[in-house]
Amino acid sequence: MQELTHYINGAHVKGTSGRFADVFNPATGEVQAKVPLANKDEFDAAVEIAAAAQPAWGATNPQRRARVMMKFVDLLNRDMDKLAEALSREHGKTFPDAKGDIQRGLEVVEYCIGAPQMLKGEFTDSAGPGIDMYSLRQPLGVTGGITPFNFPAMIPMWMFAPAIVCGNAFILKPSERDPSVPLMLAELIEEAGLPKGILQVVNGDKEAVDAMLYNDTVQSIGFVGSTPIAEYIYGTGCSQGKRVQCFGGAKNHMIIMPDADLDQAADALVGAGYGAAGERCMAISVAVPVGEETADRLIEKLVPRIEKLKVGPYTSGDDVDYGPVVTAQAKENILRLVQTGVDQGAELVVDGRDFSLQGYEEGFFVGAHLFDRVTPDMDIYKTEIFGPVLSTVRAGSYEEALGLAMDHEYGNGTAIFTRDGDTARDFANRINIGMVGINVPIPVPLAYHTFGGWKKSVFGDLNQHGPDAFKFYTRTKTVTSRWPSGIKEGGEFNFKAMD
Ligand code: NAD
Repeated sequence: MQELTHYINGAHVKGTSGRFADVFNPATGEVQAKVPLANKDEFDAAVEIAAAAQPAWGATNPQRRARVMMKFVDLLNRDMDKLAEALSREHGKTFPDAKGDIQRGLEVVEYCIGAPQMLKGEFTDSAGPGIDMYSLRQPLGVTGGITPFNFPAMIPMWMFAPAIVCGNAFILKPSERDPSVPLMLAELIEEAGLPKGILQVVNGDKEAVDAMLYNDTVQSIGFVGSTPIAEYIYGTGCSQGKRVQCFGGAKNHMIIMPDADLDQAADALVGAGYGAAGERCMAISVAVPVGEETADRLIEKLVPRIEKLKVGPYTSGDDVDYGPVVTAQAKENILRLVQTGVDQGAELVVDGRDFSLQGYEEGFFVGAHLFDRVTPDMDIYKTEIFGPVLSTVRAGSYEEALGLAMDHEYGNGTAIFTRDGDTARDFANRINIGMVGINVPIPVPLAYHTFGGWKKSVFGDLNQHGPDAFKFYTRTKTVTSRWPSGIKEGGEFNFKAMD
């Protein structure tokens, strides 16, 4: 069986802790590799290497750093299929979806090519007599990030591309469930010209995360994952004096107004609810039709579409709608929550509990589920299921629908489907959620805007990518300088004249 490594100081390095985690092929259920889980000593050694490498990189001019990003984009395109294959094999998502994962990360790398412009700083000429004032954006030093399983290419790139182009060293602790692509990315960016030790990958679990949290040299931590872990990392990281940004879980509502194009809304719900097996933080997991008639018509349109979904391994062609979930434990958890929904009185309109795929009986496939008449007190409404399960909560009015989304503890994304501009505008203005779609089910901002939720979906002040990333990965220094120019009398400086 393949033994994966860490990526330290420009080389693949075997783990020495003696602890490993299994990496599955979710389509077959087989263990295909084992990944080393770093201990504190291994993590701290990587930090020392990063700290030694960072000053020279931080002093390299931004244009040269941007050129590494340019070349990295070329290499990502060159190796797209190879990366997507490795990604699908460990994560389970379809091949087009895996390419999308890489492409969305690549777009952040492209945005980072603008670093010379973003890092230019500010200058005020003659802030006083003979006085100039300027602000610099300087790198933090050694930075780190902890990423989830569901976007093993995009989310690491969201973090390490801006961190590195700003002149920092970065240590990535990826998800232990699909660590191969992050290792490949580290190798690839060095081929693009990044010096050794600037991007390192330390695989691991809580032990490696805690080593990052308690290492004094690590200046900042980015985290994306579930809310309880986000809260833990934010609290602990801040208490250790670090700059921390953590992005957590979600329960995204889509409101369907009576005037919406219901075919369009149903298509959107199927893509946003079941794509990537529902394992997206921007997946729509709650449909809120307004009015009984809208709800009845929507369910009528959804059922045949959901029943037609093709579930299968990434190897069976590009027309597969979604693949397996990531682990047997994830599958078990989803089916347990579905059972809770049934027990608590929700109507299971599409029942995927008996789903099984011939030839892949041991794979972690989960059939599509659709619930109707879900109420806010039910566990399936309160909990992030992170699987192919869509819940319908019927609302009597627009205000009731809006209130539902506003009262939910998560606030990552949301959408409204309507033909009415007033309603859409009111929704966009009043909703307390970070990313809003109007007739767009998954409103993921592009790289040059910022990505982030509100409420329990985020801990920290700045968002991912866009201009916020340049703020997060730099520190501002403001210099006030005074030179006695222009006050020469007979070739002598007249300092007195300046007062
Ligand atoms: P997770 O929280 O289980 O794991 C995320 C990372 O934290 C992994 O690297 C993992 O090794 C580490 N970790 C796990 N347990 C830990 C512990 N006890 N102490 C310290 N570190 C620990 O999340 P996941 O299952 O990999 O990913 C799915 C979750 O991520 C979902 O909740 C999803 O909504 C969320 N997510 C959020 C966003 C966003 O931008 N808001 C994006 C993608 C995923």
